[in-house]
Amino acid sequence: MKHLYDDFWEAKGVRIIECKTCGFKHIYPFIPKAEVAKLYELDYYTTIKPFDYDQVDEDYVRQALLRIQEDAFLNTMFDFVVQNKKLL
Ligand SMILES: [Zn+2]
Repeated sequence: MKHLYDDFWEAKGVRIIECKTCGFKHIYPFIPKAEVAKLYELDYYTTIKPFDYDQVDEDYVRQALLRIQEDAFLNTMFDFVVQNKKLL
């Protein structure tokens, strides 16, 4: 799929476009899948966004869902997305 755009931003050799094809703002051209996989495998969950998956159990999920339900911003975003059907 070709991602068409008029507006874009560039920094450090990376172009971010306001895509007319899919409606999202994203990097273009896309990073090769092998590079993305390497980033996620090597760094993402250890340095960029550390997360201990061993802590996830039923209680953790229940608490996370409660936090989301009680967060006004997330509720507003959910309503916006559902109304505009951007992601559904
Ligand atoms: Zn696109």
